[in-house]
Amino acid sequence: MKDPQRVQEILQSMLKAGSNTLQVISDFDMTLTRFSYNGKRCPTCHNILDNSKAISNECRLKLDHLLETYYPIEIDTSRSVEEKLPLMVEWWTKAHDLLVEQKIKKDELAQAVHESDAMLREGYELFFDRLHEQSIPLLIFSAGIGDILEEVIRQANVFHPNVKVISNYMDFDESGTLRAFKGELIHIYNKREGALLNTDHFMELRSKPNVLLMGDSLGDLDMADGVQDMKNILKIGYLNDKVEERKQSYLDSYDIVLVNDESLEIPIAVLHYLTSNK
Ligand code: C5P
Ligand code: MG
Repeated sequence: MKDPQRVQEILQSMLKAGSNTLQVISDFDMTLTRFSYNGKRCPTCHNILDNSKAISNECRLKLDHLLETYYPIEIDTSRSVEEKLPLMVEWWTKAHDLLVEQKIKKDELAQAVHESDAMLREGYELFFDRLHEQSIPLLIFSAGIGDILEEVIRQANVFHPNVKVISNYMDFDESGTLRAFKGELIHIYNKREGALLNTDHFMELRSKPNVLLMGDSLGDLDMADGVQDMKNILKIGYLNDKVEERKQSYLDSYDIVLVNDESLEIPIAVLHYLTSNK
C-alpha cells in the first residue's frame, strides 16, 4: 500500500455506509483466476480454447505465435497505452479471426474448459459464496471470452445469480458453429467504453455507490467508470508478472497491490470486514 491511512479511511467510510451499498467489479483472467500453479502458467479464457481439441495444430501454432508476440507488449512498461492500444486491438482481432476459421462448436466449450488447467484463485468458494449470501452484486468484466468464462465459474459451482458478466461473447449459427464474436470488441484498454455501453446495469445498481474493484492490469482501473454517483472505491491490484518494473505504477494506481499472491485472501478479508456488522 502506498497510503495505508487512505485505505483505512475508505474502508471505514464503506463500513459506515453498510454492505447494502456495496458492489464488486472484478476482472477475470489473472485476477479471479490464478496466474501460475506449481511454477506453470495458468491459462486465460483465450488460452483455454487455444490449447483445446477444438483447434487444429496449425491454428494453435499461429495462436501461440500471436501470444509470444503480443503478450510481451501488453506488459511492456517502456511503451505508452497509446502505443499499445492499436497493437492490442490487432492481437484480439487476429486471434478472433483465427478462432472463427476453426468452426468451433458450442458444445465443445464445456469439454475444453473441463480438460484445461484453468484454476480460480485460492479461496474462490468463500469469495463467491460470501457475495451471494450477502446479496452483493459481482460484475465480472473481462476482455476474455464470455462463453468460456461462464463455463469456468459454472463448472466451479460459483455462477450464482448475483454474478453478471460483461465480456466478448461468441455468436453461433443455427447449427451451433462459431461464426463471429458479438458486439463491440472488449480488449484490455477499452474497458471504459465497455462500461459506458452498459449503463442499464449500472443504473440498476445506483443504490450501491461503494465499489470494490479488482484487477491485474492498469486497464482494469476503468471498469468502474459507468458506476452512478460513486462514493468510495477501493482498488485491489494483482501484480503477477514483471513485478519490479511495474511495482511503482501499480502502487500509484491501486490502493492495495498484491504481489505474487495466488489467493483471494485479501479481498475476502475486506469483504469480511465490510459485512461483519450484518
Ligand atoms: O479477463 P481479462 O480482461 O483479464 O482478459 C484479458 C487477458 O486475456 C489479457 O490479459 C491477455 O493477456 C489475454 N489474452 C490472451 N489471448 C488473446 C487475447 C488476450 O490470452 N488472444
Ligand atoms: Mg486480467
